[in-house]
Amino acid sequence: MYADVAVIGGGASGYASAVEIAEACPDTEIVIVERLLRTGKKLTATGNGKCNLSNKSLKAENYHGSVDAMKIIRKTPDYNDFFVRKMDIMCVSGSEGREGGIYPHSNSSATVVNAFRLKLDSLGVKEICDFEVKGISQKNGKYILTSEKDEIVCRKVIIACGGYAGTSFGTDGSMLRILKNMGYKTAKICPAVAPLRVSPDRLKGLKGVRAKGKISAVSDGKVLKTETGEIQFNENNISGICVFNLAYLFQKYEGKMKLRADLLPETDENNLTIYLERVRKNRSEYNIDELLTGIFVKNLAVYLVKNTLRRPMTDKINSVTDNEIKKLVKVIKCLEFEVTGCSPWQNAQATCGGIISECITENLESRLHKGIYFCGEILDTVGDCGGYNLQWAWSSGIWAGRNCAESLKGGKR
Ligand SMILES: Cc1cc2nc3c(=O)[nH]c(=O)nc-3n(C[C@H](O)[C@H](O)[C@H](O)COP(=O)(O)OP(=O)(O)OC[C@H]3O[C@@H](n4cnc5c(N)ncnc54)[C@H](O)[C@@H]3O)c2cc1C
Repeated sequence: MYADVAVIGGGASGYASAVEIAEACPDTEIVIVERLLRTGKKLTATGNGKCNLSNKSLKAENYHGSVDAMKIIRKTPDYNDFFVRKMDIMCVSGSEGREGGIYPHSNSSATVVNAFRLKLDSLGVKEICDFEVKGISQKNGKYILTSEKDEIVCRKVIIACGGYAGTSFGTDGSMLRILKNMGYKTAKICPAVAPLRVSPDRLKGLKGVRAKGKISAVSDGKVLKTETGEIQFNENNISGICVFNLAYLFQKYEGKMKLRADLLPETDENNLTIYLERVRKNRSEYNIDELLTGIFVKNLAVYLVKNTLRRPMTDKINSVTDNEIKKLVKVIKCLEFEVTGCSPWQNAQATCGGIISECITENLESRLHKGIYFCGEILDTVGDCGGYNLQWAWSSGIWAGRNCAESLKGGKR
């Protein structure tokens, strides 16, 4: 089959690029080529089914990688212009305390997928599903996309295949492997917006505990980044949005990274010491496992006392020494875990690493193959949790689509 433009990948960035090209070049034949049986599968799962599609505060510090995401985001419409005015999706800001996040008013990601379905249909964009692109080659100035049983001949290609994260939504990194064989370079790939693994021994007794606090990624004693929020302790990893936002650092600091939690950021060491000394007096006849009752949930309170004081839990609180109180204060303010790995791809929401900036022009066109454009997670930039990754997908899709459309019109490139 023939198409003027083939968009490989029916996800967020592929959708946005197809809308942009179809609006700019109405007589162009555009197909979205998708390996799954339907497009938009990952989009439906985003934001716990609510789709955190953007954020009110988009800053360079929210993106990490060699591709300058903010430079492109600034050149493209904001959520109001794109979603509200162009896509006719009513949006609201903030859902369940997630300040700054932009969501569809319906609180349902299906609304976003359905609005794209209508828009793409009205623009005449076709979809070819169950077509996994396994090879990209060139013949007579055209590109040929091949699957196991078929081929598509086209003039321009938009590669919007995502990365490795969320494997059950069609993204298994296979396109990155194809591109590597075509000569493209990638930054080191690792899961981002994901839990971080720590030794299960260190987490014994903490499984299921959630605690509000500050958490930092630390390497060689240096604090790399600090986040605040709910820290969730699991069987073999630590998660929560605050941890998700530190996960990308694993790419650079693998094997030498720690998580350091401050479980009482609002109380300084001095006040905490005074507090514990008072508790020692008031609960003197009770067992030491009650020392932190009133500050933390039971499992966390017992874990901290047990692992810091290392003595029988039947000992009485009045036997706790000043030095032991000092030790406890230190641990509560500075509880450290060695990071032993990152989470499996199926538990990650984004990919850190991807096609590096030197392989593409400012227009997101390939420097190796003219007429091939890239957008979305396949490129070497990853955003924080909170709508940043979808914003990158929309903006890079629009920008790649706009430049592809310009080249189709033979206009400025
Ligand atoms: C569970 C989950 C929740 C998330 N929630 C949010 C959120 O609320 N807010 C946010 O900002 N980000 C969120 N993200 C991240 C965000 O969804 C992604 O960063 C974004 O969807 C990436 O868009 P993309 O277009 O690059 O790729 P994708 O949306 O991943 O789409 C790529 C598409 O390409 C197809 N494909 C891959 N290879 C081929 C091939 N060889 N041939 C044909 N088709 C192919 C895949 O099947 C897929 O449909 C979430 C991610 C996950 C996994």
